[in-house]
Amino acid sequence: MKLGLVLGLLLCWGSTLGSGDLRTEDVPTGQNLFVITLDGFRWQELFNGADSALLNDPEWTADADYNKALYWDNDPEVRRARLMPFFWNVIARKGQLHGNRAYGNNCNTSNFYQISYPGYNEIFTGGTDPLISSNAKVHNGNKNMLEYISAMPAYAGKVAAFASWDAFPYIFNRERSGFYLNAGPEAVQGESLSKGQQSLNGILAHADNSEQATRDDRITFLSALDYVKRRTPKVFFLGFSGTDDAGHDKSYDRYLRSANEADRMIGELWNLVQSLPQYRGNTTFLITTDHGRGARKNTWYNHGFFVGGSSQTWMALIGSQAKALGENKAPAQLYQKQIAGSMAWLLGLRTRSRNTLPLTCFRAVAPNEQLAVK
Ligand SMILES: [Zn+2]
Repeated sequence: MKLGLVLGLLLCWGSTLGSGDLRTEDVPTGQNLFVITLDGFRWQELFNGADSALLNDPEWTADADYNKALYWDNDPEVRRARLMPFFWNVIARKGQLHGNRAYGNNCNTSNFYQISYPGYNEIFTGGTDPLISSNAKVHNGNKNMLEYISAMPAYAGKVAAFASWDAFPYIFNRERSGFYLNAGPEAVQGESLSKGQQSLNGILAHADNSEQATRDDRITFLSALDYVKRRTPKVFFLGFSGTDDAGHDKSYDRYLRSANEADRMIGELWNLVQSLPQYRGNTTFLITTDHGRGARKNTWYNHGFFVGGSSQTWMALIGSQAKALGENKAPAQLYQKQIAGSMAWLLGLRTRSRNTLPLTCFRAVAPNEQLAVK
């Protein structure tokens, strides 16, 4: 009984510590937000491109020549743009990139577990929860920012999430949180599905998902794209898993390919958004990862508290509310728990959370000022 009370108090403490409660008098500003994650994608490859030691080692890369032809260049700036062309040709010019530790520009997780569930909990709740220490499929007791937003009348039915990993129904506590979520091997249900989505459902029905925790990112992406066209959500989460899967499989070539594909898919989503009047000029993308990976040649594939480098992350922003700051080369320290509060800020909503990225990153005027004008 006493233990239960103590645990209950701890849970309350964990869920309110970094909670991003929105205030009821919030007025929507017409802004849209897409949050996108590449699971366990390292800052090392984002800022330096493919790693030659890993490319040239047959233990990690099956065909070095082929992968060098795809991703290698002696110039690191050319090399990283070959791996992530949308990040370096578009985001670096029109948006901002944080986390290049070569300049002392650091992004880190605050949770010390440095694995996926604790990472996504930190991203979406704005705090750490010491009781979330594994990836076990347990319903999350902490409310997340998507849930807070979707409870506002102006956003009802306008918040949605598509993710490759089948743990997201637990991370977001789907039964409680109320917004649309499609994750893992789930087909997209509903009436008036497009022919494309019906085909994707057919592929999922035939795929052997029995032992796989994640579905192919390309299916997740095509389903997400179809949903965005059909339902035009105002707040959307897209969770890719291919990079982490390939890492754990110790396949550096597939890890690079997954990152390269994610870059292309994000670019395609950005192009779609620019072509739709509901989104053009009032939409921001916030892209990040849930954790880093080992920083050494023999640890890159793994991550966690005991694997050095795993708390090192990165963030990228582009769109109407993100200033065009380019690659951030100033010494700084950002944390994953600042993202949930930033999500509210990017939508022009007020939040009790004091955890946000530096306000100099944003184009928005302070939400209070916005409301005062009305
Ligand atoms: Zn992960």
